[in-house]
Amino acid sequence: MCKVIAIANQKGGVGKTTTAMNLGLGLAKEGKSVLMIDADPQGSLSISLGFREPDKLTDTLFDIFRMEAADEDIAPGYGIMHVKENVDLIPGNINLAMAEISFANTLCRESILRTYLDDVKEIYDFIVIDCMPSLGIVTVNALTAADKVLIPVQAAYLPVKGLQQLIKTIGMIKRSLNLELEIEGILLTMVDARTNYARDIVTQVHEVYGKTVPVFEIEIPLSVRAAETSAVAQSIYEYDPKGKAAFAYSALTKEVLANG
Ligand code: ATP
Ligand code: MG
Repeated sequence: MCKVIAIANQKGGVGKTTTAMNLGLGLAKEGKSVLMIDADPQGSLSISLGFREPDKLTDTLFDIFRMEAADEDIAPGYGIMHVKENVDLIPGNINLAMAEISFANTLCRESILRTYLDDVKEIYDFIVIDCMPSLGIVTVNALTAADKVLIPVQAAYLPVKGLQQLIKTIGMIKRSLNLELEIEGILLTMVDARTNYARDIVTQVHEVYGKTVPVFEIEIPLSVRAAETSAVAQSIYEYDPKGKAAFAYSALTKEVLANG
């Protein structure tokens, strides 16, 4: 059965795309078939997977939204790019920035993506959605379509503070739009283990949220090599296979697999 995981946090720059990429490619490495969805007008996931100019692409997530909202037939495979063995991508681009106004009057506008994915799900073991840093209509669609939400949080004061709002929003979506939605876990990212500051933040996240929300034991370390993967369009497993970030993302992948 297919599992849909949304990688979400309305705070920018916390490691969502890096996590989506390395979790998705990690699952593929473990033999799972994976569809990655770039739900961000910045197109960062598309760029990181080698599609250098997403704004020039014509068949993207926005077009799927548009066609689905208009109840048009979507040809099988439309908008799905093959990346490598076991990995497909629905790219996202700047057009997604128009979603808010484009679908304001669409009936059931929060579940456009879920309706579309219901037809695609049977082909994949996992669908990983990289969300944009906002809680607008596209992110609400991702959370409505998802079975699980994985929340990357940078180990720093302000990103951790923003968690409360996100968890509240997830609760609201669970109650009103997607009863099945569960939090896969909070994932601490860019953890600089050499500083007491980072250790304090990690402890604080476990203390404040750990009782009500799963927090992954595995943490993603601060790593220049991880930061470079987008630019070289390689997974951390290819780019720096022996590094600590590859080890951490590999452990995260195994934990997600074990969670079923
Ligand atoms: P946005 O909200 O803009 O979509 P994001 O949450 O997707 O951002 P990323 O793009 O994954 O965040 O990461 C933000 C920046 O931090 C990028 O420059 C990325 O290369 C870098 N980065 C990601 N993970 C790490 C890490 N473990 N160590 C150091 N730098 C990292
Ligand atoms: Mg991103």
